[in-house]
Amino acid sequence: ESADVLILGAGPAGLTLANLLHAAGIDCVVLERADRAHVQTRARAGFLAANTVRVLERHGLADGLHRRGRPHGTCEFRTEDGSFRLDYGALGRHEQHTVYPQQDLVTDLLTHYLDAGGRIHFETEARTVQDAAGPRPTVAVQEADGRPDRWRARYVAGCDGRHGAARRSLPTGTLRHHRDHGVTWLGLLAEAPPSLDAVGYALHPHGFAGHMARTADITRYYLQYERGIPADAWSEERIWAELDLRMYTAEHGPLHHGRILQRSVIDLESDVIEPLRHGSLLLAGDAASLPAPAAAKGANLAVLEAELLAEALIDELAHHDSRALDRYSRRCLEHIWRAQEFAHWMIQLLHAPAGPDEGSYFHEAMRRSRIESLRTSRTHQDWFAENYVGI
Ligand code: FAD
Repeated sequence: ESADVLILGAGPAGLTLANLLHAAGIDCVVLERADRAHVQTRARAGFLAANTVRVLERHGLADGLHRRGRPHGTCEFRTEDGSFRLDYGALGRHEQHTVYPQQDLVTDLLTHYLDAGGRIHFETEARTVQDAAGPRPTVAVQEADGRPDRWRARYVAGCDGRHGAARRSLPTGTLRHHRDHGVTWLGLLAEAPPSLDAVGYALHPHGFAGHMARTADITRYYLQYERGIPADAWSEERIWAELDLRMYTAEHGPLHHGRILQRSVIDLESDVIEPLRHGSLLLAGDAASLPAPAAAKGANLAVLEAELLAEALIDELAHHDSRALDRYSRRCLEHIWRAQEFAHWMIQLLHAPAGPDEGSYFHEAMRRSRIESLRTSRTHQDWFAENYVGI
């Protein structure tokens, strides 16, 4: 079996790419390890950057998020010293987020692609990409029934995330710049309406706590968590007691409590693969770079890179012009390192230092000073807003 472009993975990166290529008449097929139901219900991101919305609008993929997404432009910082709000939507470039759950975006992209006649194979796991150095790469796969198979292509787009086959198939010597930030979060989805009309960032001596709206009935919370402890170690009572404490509810009013629907342990790590092109194999999304979730950049980078990759592949396959493909890695890496830098800054803002600096008065005092600057300096606020929503 064959296609001009084989797309590994049906997440935001793979499905954006598939829609754009298919609309341009490029022969492509998506191979996805999971089944359709799993892909459409995997709750992860929720804050779409203005650029992401513009990309989706440009290609007629934004109907769902226009109907059901909600604009969002405020965050609130809570500390021992009090609280303050930043209306970031009115600062910097005056851009807002659109709150739209990732699983709804993925469902929209998938529905649009299938309605247009796009090809996708679910429950088909890519094992390795072979001969990527040359013009006829192949992908060894395992089909839903366990049968091994082999696909041929002219290009393989590795959009299969951080643990996918694309990364495993990179030639030895490929650079993977990795950073472990030494911080762990317990990520929670609660069956409870949002308790603030803002993204909440609480800095407490017990550690960081975060509040992010998802839908009218579902809220995402994060709690800084001890590394190595399983996700189910804390009872729901303990989780809510800790959220109440760290979100300073005694001063700011109660949180809506509810059942914890989902919990996962997230070690805050970042990495970047360099370069993103190896002959006929091109990486996009989490396969290319994992930005630690502190700055909510991952899904947004995935969509941005998918558009750049689609344009480059269309130029190459429809017009025999390979210049954009040659530039693809460099162009993406500029955005990736910018996002990485901001995520790193956010992590340092939100957490007491880990590792050798742990408990250091010096670092804690710098962190307080940084928060104070953000509270009082309009220039700092504009910089924050531009980077927070920008991509
Ligand atoms: P994925 O969405 O991971 O999709 C990869 C696909 O490839 C999957 O469907 C997988 O099943 C499939 N696959 C894997 N291996 C194979 C294989 N061998 N063969 C075939 N298919 C395979 N980002 C934001 O921008 N904003 C946020 O608010 C935000 N919040 C987050 C909260 C959490 C708790 C988490 C975990 C992440 C969050 N992110 C956020 C990050 C965001 O979810 C990811 O960056 C995004 O999903 C990346 O998209 P992708 O298409 O590259 O990869």
